[in-house]
Amino acid sequence: MKICFNEATTMKNSTLEKDLELCEKAGYELIEIRLDKLRDYLKDHTVDDLAAFFAKSGIKPYAFNALEFITFRDEKGYNEIKENLKFLCDVGDKINCKKIVVVPTFDVGNYTKAQIKEETVRALNDLAGYAEPHGFKLAFEFVGYPNCSVNTFGQAYNIVKAVNRDSVGIVLDCFHFHAMGSRIEDLEKADPKKIFIFHIDDAEDLPIGALRDNNRLWPGEGVIDLDAILSTLKKIGYNEMASVELFRPEYWDWDIEKAIMVGKEKTEQVVSKYFEVE
Ligand code: ZN
Repeated sequence: MKICFNEATTMKNSTLEKDLELCEKAGYELIEIRLDKLRDYLKDHTVDDLAAFFAKSGIKPYAFNALEFITFRDEKGYNEIKENLKFLCDVGDKINCKKIVVVPTFDVGNYTKAQIKEETVRALNDLAGYAEPHGFKLAFEFVGYPNCSVNTFGQAYNIVKAVNRDSVGIVLDCFHFHAMGSRIEDLEKADPKKIFIFHIDDAEDLPIGALRDNNRLWPGEGVIDLDAILSTLKKIGYNEMASVELFRPEYWDWDIEKAIMVGKEKTEQVVSKYFEVE
């Protein structure tokens, strides 16, 4: 299993340049790049600078985060998503980063699960229609909030299965999995090839439906049954990568290097119980 750093973990005070330098130093194999940090970086760097960094570095880009709220959009909102998709495909081509996280919409109103599925399958197919011929894969990330239109693993997997394209898979985020009570039996039935990205984290002990991103904790420090998730991933044959992704304001205020180091240590401790860490 390769250990990856998701830039949300240092969202408030760091930059892409700093994350890259410190993640390389900490020995991460992979990084997930945030769209907002990428745009900031490009204010005083070029895509060629970024490509040059990766060409000589041990750390590699794995995915971009994220195209948000892809469903139930008006024309203007959807066009912005497509513009961002084109932008990420252009950058991704040059730095060899070929996965993009896509996120469903919140507070969509009074739709049934069947209607949500229909709209989400439509949007994923439409975006994949651009991404796929360019060699990009879309990783659909359900969010474990009660008001997110797709908020459990089972619901998200069902949608991705209906899309039925090699270029569309799922993000399994332990926090989102736990937060709305996703079922381990659903993960047991999943095809490991459909899990494009694995986000690892932990959570404070709040009831179902009450957890928010700021309640995330370092892997191993909370109540998520990471043993169940990791042992199931091992059983179904997933062995690709684990990306530490926190959104905890307290950690954002830490020294950036310390947060990046601790994220790697905590992730390795938990993951190495079940997998060989590369
Ligand atoms: Zn995530």
